[in-house]
Amino acid sequence: MKAMIYHGERNILYESVPDPQLADDFGAVVKVDQCAICGSDLHLYHGVQAYDKPGFCIVHEFAGEIVEVGRAVNRFEVGDKVLASGLTGCSQCRQCLAGHIHLCENNKTACFGVVSSLPGGQAEGVAVPAADTTLLKIPDGITLTQAVLLTDILPTAYFGVKNADIKPGDTVAVVGLGPVGQLAIDCALIAGASQVYAIDQIPERLKAAELVGAEPIDARGDAVTSILDKTNGQGVDAAIEAVGLRATINTAMLCVRNGGVLSVVGTNLEADFPFRMDYAMSHNLTFRIGKCPVPEMWADLVPLVQAGKLSPERVVTHKLGLSEGEYAYEIFDARTDGVLKIMMDPGR
Ligand SMILES: [Zn+2]
Ligand SMILES: [Zn+2]
Repeated sequence: MKAMIYHGERNILYESVPDPQLADDFGAVVKVDQCAICGSDLHLYHGVQAYDKPGFCIVHEFAGEIVEVGRAVNRFEVGDKVLASGLTGCSQCRQCLAGHIHLCENNKTACFGVVSSLPGGQAEGVAVPAADTTLLKIPDGITLTQAVLLTDILPTAYFGVKNADIKPGDTVAVVGLGPVGQLAIDCALIAGASQVYAIDQIPERLKAAELVGAEPIDARGDAVTSILDKTNGQGVDAAIEAVGLRATINTAMLCVRNGGVLSVVGTNLEADFPFRMDYAMSHNLTFRIGKCPVPEMWADLVPLVQAGKLSPERVVTHKLGLSEGEYAYEIFDARTDGVLKIMMDPGR
């Protein structure tokens, strides 16, 4: 089959590789109908997040059709149209069965497409382990593109909003307006935020945020002062950070009022963050961070997407063939051509 294979820094190539094989009786093989590029893939693209030796297929965001199932899989059969949680577990332990695959008691929590032992979905096919708790049949009324967005970025945005404890009427700041930050705005508004301040330095991303009802704050200026000015010097009730860098986490922290919540969903494993314990204590700040338990979020998100209350596909700016994958990485990395989120079709 054809797949995008990671070979090192700025070296992700469209290549022929062996077809995926069932890992064991609990797995399934999925023919991919659509996959995405995730911002976290850029860590690999920049060569800063190499967990493993190169030579594996990338990405944890894909949806498609089951073409093979293991004998111990109960919930799926060949022909089912499915999306996969970007994070998988064991499908056997108490935590995985309850949807908490990020807490797998057998330590099988893993992300597709970052190690050779669990190849990802920028491919014509993927071997999915622990199928019963990793996959979801694509619900009625959910498009293929929406299904791919339910594998990671919409759940991650929603998880960030849940962690921010937003109550009706709250003011919220979202720092970083990539796809996850954009969808965090949408989820914060659904949670009842009265005002969402959207912070970034890219004009198109600020514009996209404004179009859905956020107030754009240009980070090329002093974003913290702007937020304080707009909140009577108090700061916002909650901030959601969707970048994962020291500077952006700091900005988010300084935007939050006394007793407020900072929720971090941005990841950049290269960056460390010196936690400002004195600041957090003196401001009674709540700080939350963690991997998104994707399947836990589906019960809330699927009805919202079905009802048209959330339209996550608004972040998709490009639909390309997988054979154009090398070009896709170039523009996604360079943020050219107004790119926000790229979907790819392995059939072309
Ligand atoms: Zn992702
Ligand atoms: Zn488990």
